[in-house]
Amino acid sequence: MCPEHGNTLISSAGRTGCRVCPRTWEHDRQSLPCPEPVRWVLVDQDGVGQRVCDGHAVAAGVKVSVGVVHKTLAAAAEGNPTDQSPTP
Ligand SMILES: [Zn+2]
Ligand SMILES: [Zn+2]
Repeated sequence: MCPEHGNTLISSAGRTGCRVCPRTWEHDRQSLPCPEPVRWVLVDQDGVGQRVCDGHAVAAGVKVSVGVVHKTLAAAAEGNPTDQSPTP
């Protein structure tokens, strides 16, 4: 995944490039686990969340599926009282 454009990569001879921007990587990026920071949680109809980066969120159609994506990490950083373990 291109961190900006999502599923736009093409690989050849062990190198990877984005079809949209000039980014290139000197390895087969698509065969590696995504190295980008997780910034989104995609929630499906069953409420199951999948943590993804910007590129994967774009590839998943975030811009056309407003309402199914929640930006959770920022919220978590602000502190969620229900996330604390109970203290005796
Ligand atoms: Zn790109
Ligand atoms: Zn990703």
